[in-house]
Amino acid sequence: MNWISKFIKPKIASLFKKKTAESEQVLWTTCECKNLIYKEDLQKNLNCCPKCGAHHKLSCNERFETFFDNKVFDLIKTPLPKDDPINFVDKKKYTDRLKLARKITNQDDAVAIATGKVNNISVTVGAQDFRFIGGSFGAASGEAFIHGIQHAIDNKNPFIIFSCSGGQRMMESSIALMQMSRTVLAINELKKHNLPYIVVLTNPTTGGVTASWAMLGDILIAEPKATIGFAGRRVIQDTVRETLPEEFQTAEYVKDHGGIDLVIERKYLKDTVGTLLNVLLKKAETQSNTDTSNVVTLDSSLQKSSKAL
Ligand SMILES: [Zn+2]
Repeated sequence: MNWISKFIKPKIASLFKKKTAESEQVLWTTCECKNLIYKEDLQKNLNCCPKCGAHHKLSCNERFETFFDNKVFDLIKTPLPKDDPINFVDKKKYTDRLKLARKITNQDDAVAIATGKVNNISVTVGAQDFRFIGGSFGAASGEAFIHGIQHAIDNKNPFIIFSCSGGQRMMESSIALMQMSRTVLAINELKKHNLPYIVVLTNPTTGGVTASWAMLGDILIAEPKATIGFAGRRVIQDTVRETLPEEFQTAEYVKDHGGIDLVIERKYLKDTVGTLLNVLLKKAETQSNTDTSNVVTLDSSLQKSSKAL
């Protein structure tokens, strides 16, 4: 009997233990309020904590499902530039980081673009997945963004984007920084066509993303308690040598100080954006110049601007 208690029983116990741990991991999750939440309850509530209301991050697909009418949308394939242009290695090779991020997110890069309808208005929508190297913005994200704006111009759609990023991708150095000016030029083209550009800032939106396209919307909306800033809190505190308020760099604080227009809960986002688009499109219609002889493609305009730079 000794061999049963020594070998067989522990083996059976370990099998059960493993299975229980795996199912617990799938079924339950935690929140910043330290409550244990049934994952299904969280998903039913648009990934907002049913106990404290914290807005958890969404993948691009989840974001599109919460936003488009009847969860119907088409993903748009965007150009993918060469990986790892400067052969960057830190603790890991950049190419290995890309491989892992692609496996986790099932996306080529952090930004995904989709098209569909919101309150029956055709729109082009972008989203960032934070799981893809912190939602960092490099050449591939820049291409996706510009492709999304070109799609909006071609289809006379408003462009809406959900930011969620730590900033530019350091593994691409100045190539990532160049995306800041490229995206700004693309937004200018969208505005020349009198098409609305709305940014929804989600937690977190920081660094070069805040310093470029995320703060240029005709209307800036943020999700509650989202961190919005450029440099980190500690860096600012050490530079100005002053204690910063508790709520510094939260969506509510930025709104109170005039940085953004609205703070809206996720469950009201779709209807709010739909209403705003109705107003903006009517305004654009009255401003619209019927002369289309000046219409140029975004690519040609960007090339011209790059040459000028
Ligand atoms: Zn919570």
